[in-house]
Amino acid sequence: MSESSGKKIADQVGASGLALNEKLLWERGRPGRSGMSIPDAGVPETPLPAEIAGNGPNWPDLSELEVVRHYTRLSTWNFGVDTGVYPLGSCTMKYNPKINEKMASLPGFAGAHPLLPDDACQGALRVLHEMERLLADIVGLAAASLQPAAGAHGELCGMLMIAAHHRHAGAKKTKILMPDTAHGTNPATAAMCGYREVKVPIGVGGKLELAAVRELMDAETAGIMVTNPNTLGVFESELADISALIHERGGLVYADGANLNAIMGRVDMGKMGVDVVHFNLHKSMSTPHGGGGPGSGPVAVGEALVPYLPGPRIQFDGERYFLSDAQPLSIGRLHGFHGQFGTALRAYSYILSLGPEIRTASGLAVLNANYIRAKLKGHYDLPYDQSCMHECVFTDAKQKKFKVATLDIVKRLIDLGFHPPTVYFPLVVSGALMIEPTETEAKEDLDAFADAMIRIAREAEENPDILHAAPTRTKVGRLDETLAARKPVLTGDMTRD
Ligand SMILES: *Cc1c(COP(=O)(O)O)cnc(C)c1O
Repeated sequence: MSESSGKKIADQVGASGLALNEKLLWERGRPGRSGMSIPDAGVPETPLPAEIAGNGPNWPDLSELEVVRHYTRLSTWNFGVDTGVYPLGSCTMKYNPKINEKMASLPGFAGAHPLLPDDACQGALRVLHEMERLLADIVGLAAASLQPAAGAHGELCGMLMIAAHHRHAGAKKTKILMPDTAHGTNPATAAMCGYREVKVPIGVGGKLELAAVRELMDAETAGIMVTNPNTLGVFESELADISALIHERGGLVYADGANLNAIMGRVDMGKMGVDVVHFNLHKSMSTPHGGGGPGSGPVAVGEALVPYLPGPRIQFDGERYFLSDAQPLSIGRLHGFHGQFGTALRAYSYILSLGPEIRTASGLAVLNANYIRAKLKGHYDLPYDQSCMHECVFTDAKQKKFKVATLDIVKRLIDLGFHPPTVYFPLVVSGALMIEPTETEAKEDLDAFADAMIRIAREAEENPDILHAAPTRTKVGRLDETLAARKPVLTGDMTRD
């Protein structure tokens, strides 16, 4: 590694806030200290009557500056895309342009109550109606619904529609095909809809192959759920032929489109024979996510599933927008009111502000992932050595002989100022390091990240103990991952045991 790239690593400050400790406000407060001065009212002080005063909370007494510093410091504990590179594969932690936040906070939208009558919220209904159209157009399908509240909820919506379609046709279906590279939520969704998962082994190059599907697809199989691009970052190029076969044998095709930022504006799902696809607006289209929400997982469907879309649907009669329940085959409501309106609004702003450039965004996502893949190849084992889509998957195979595992590698990344990538997923790759740089990172930041990874590969050879001990620059060191998840200690002082 050159001197200059060494300097770049030292410049990375993304994780610096993680090194600070912070007392509880209760530990800092002093009786009688005040956060404000109120002019003397000129009337005698009177205690509150006991029945009103009660035993209120024991708030600490603090000055304004103490409170400001406390919360400002706490805000730096959060590693986010706004502080540093966050290459979390599959989760797509990318930068969300602030203009979309601004649009979502316009008072007419932010203050709209979901119980407003249709006539009093024509603008909001128009946004939702146009948003459905935009999403359907982006993937080349007939119609969309914004009701599902997250990716997995969109999957549930899609599979409920597939099940309703088969029921309406009087066809008995008990199974669903699922390649090994499916996202973990896919088999869970299938099970919730009463289907047994039938695994389709993946072919060479990590791809789903027509021949394997042909062998398994039978009359009792409801169809197939395909994550495309799949969790290895590989585009399922045989999907059009696979869809034709599935349809011929009475099934339907579900595409998990959570990774849309790899293919936005480039792939026509309708032409690939997809019957239903879900989007993750909180990944591909500008809603910040992590920590549980808010998300939005709209679905788009082909003609066969339009009658089953969740209701009520937003209609436009040429003059006004309104909600309509006139859909006898609808699977019904999946969300209170109109779905996650604020998230749909950010995505609407994102799509309209990019326009045809949405194609450039997906192009850059793929270019950046391939740049990282090319830079790290040779330093890390690359199980599927071919060009990738929006993410690339390495393993710890080369580092194993120095007794260094994936976990050690990514803990060291924290010390160097980067958020770790997704690890030990997909399950088909042992010791996986799944890196998704996203389209919004500049070349300098991609280089700095690659330099850090290369430095770690060298440290694994020369001084593996550094990696075993990492992270050392954070206020808490290596946690027992299982204990931390099962028995979290939620005290204010994180140095206490
Ligand atoms: C994130 C993701 C999901 C699930 O989305 P949630 O919003 O977390 O429910 C499903 N499939 C793929 C491929 C994903 O990356």
